[in-house]
Amino acid sequence: MALKANYDEVLSQLPPQVQLVAVSKTHPVEKIKTIYDCGQRIFGENKVQELVEKYPLLPKDIQWHLIGHLQTNKVKYIAEFVDTIQSVDSEKLLREIDKQAARYGRKIKVLLQVKIAEEDTKFGLESSVAETLFHQWLEGAFPHVVVTGLMGMATFTDDREQIRREFCFLKSLYDRLALQHPLQTLSMGMSGDFPLAVDCGANSVRVGSAIFGDRSYSNGVPL
Ligand SMILES: *Cc1c(COP(=O)(O)O)cnc(C)c1O
Repeated sequence: MALKANYDEVLSQLPPQVQLVAVSKTHPVEKIKTIYDCGQRIFGENKVQELVEKYPLLPKDIQWHLIGHLQTNKVKYIAEFVDTIQSVDSEKLLREIDKQAARYGRKIKVLLQVKIAEEDTKFGLESSVAETLFHQWLEGAFPHVVVTGLMGMATFTDDREQIRREFCFLKSLYDRLALQHPLQTLSMGMSGDFPLAVDCGANSVRVGSAIFGDRSYSNGVPL
């Protein structure tokens, strides 16, 4: 499998202003290093333990994004080095990120994860709650956090029109919030739907298997 060819193929489908988060979960550090050597600097992981194990083994100029559901009691393990937490899905979590960032004297970038899938999903904020949290942040409630934008995951379906509706819904919320305070990041789209996400206004995409190949969970976490 030619990782570099996969990577180039993904890049060729992205307009230059769209940020690529290479989702490296379950893949070993050697493969991450290969994509790093192609010039990629932003990588995404969805589990704290895996991120904490990989972090010391890889170059320090990687910007690590946590993209999976984050338990409040695990924020402390990544607060010192994580670049962006894309998966803020509760006020409690935002409060804890703020607290841990303060301990390290830094500001942590976050995205509010909004529930956009019409299917039942476990994680993500209702859009009205995301809006309320955003206002609380604007009023100074979480001074060690920078809300840089929104993240969403569409329904797992072949129905492109449904996916488009869900992405468009998040884009309209993003535009509304951005009128109140400048935002940088609208993160939506994965291997199966990132061109559609870009079409709907995503300026950041999270692409795993299209770059690294299929994930095998059979041997646990490969490292
Ligand atoms: C795994 C994952 C991705 C990437 O999925 P692919 O289909 O492999 O591109 C994107 N976002 C989140 C939140 C993920 O957990």
